[in-house]
Amino acid sequence: MPASDRVVIVTGAANGIGKACARRFAEDGLRVVVADTDRTAGKALAEELGAEKEKALFVDCNVADRLAVANLLAETLSTFGRVDVLVNNAGIVSKGDILNLPPEDFEKVISVNLTGAFLVARAAARQMAEQIHENDERTDDCRKRYAIINMSSVNAVVAIADQLAYCATKGAINQLTKSMALALAPMGIRVNAVGPGSINTDVLKAVLEDRSAMSKVMSRTPLARIGDPDEVAGVVHFLASKDASYITGECIYADGGRLALNYLASSSD
Ligand code: NAD
Repeated sequence: MPASDRVVIVTGAANGIGKACARRFAEDGLRVVVADTDRTAGKALAEELGAEKEKALFVDCNVADRLAVANLLAETLSTFGRVDVLVNNAGIVSKGDILNLPPEDFEKVISVNLTGAFLVARAAARQMAEQIHENDERTDDCRKRYAIINMSSVNAVVAIADQLAYCATKGAINQLTKSMALALAPMGIRVNAVGPGSINTDVLKAVLEDRSAMSKVMSRTPLARIGDPDEVAGVVHFLASKDASYITGECIYADGGRLALNYLASSSD
């Protein structure tokens, strides 16, 4: 089977970074499963990517819900018959620091960003393992075909006081990535993460509209601009490609230089 016949599941694919990833894979000829809770945008994207020609499929899936995740795999298999790449991208934020964040809000963010990523990865990895076993695939070939990419953040490494839950989940995503990479390496399934900085999506809308908040963001961004979702999708696409066949357990940061910066960016002087 040629590598271009691969099937990719992208969670949180109806908007923002996930949408850019879904488009990028579709352009490359992969069949794409758009998994999201946003039915209107998700269906529209699947139609745009070729649902009628059986090139794309929308599945209404809350990644925090075990049954919905089981249904995601079942619908993917009944339509496309296999899974080769997973982009674990769905994520939410909830404002609050250690003194004021309600436990329910903490649990909600953990359930989507961390438990959700675990549930979808577990289901996809089991399916990939079954395919590898059934088809007696060579590990060398698997490294070019099978990949899981988890969406991390610069907030896995640095933190924001009033984004306690979000920062905790992104730190955990990096360790989830490493532990999964070690478990799946013998089969040739590679697991990596991508850590965006500030990217132009709905999540950043409030910041983009607030001059003082934007100036703070820019003071921490050496490349002196907000990133585009396509610039994250490009890294995700690379990690899923055969060019990345010797990379596993890594997180690549697409952050405009933020993590390299100690003091403030020179453009903010
Ligand atoms: P976004 O809000 O534009 O898109 C998120 C998508 O996830 C939406 O389509 C939403 O409907 C979907 N979603 C939310 N909860 C879901 C659930 N329970 N199950 C399935 N789908 C769900 O956000 P974005 O900026 O594109 O963020 C995508 C990922 O990138 C997230 O993991 C986020 O943490 C990460 N990220 C974003 C930035 C940024 O600056 N935008 C920076 C670092 C990391």
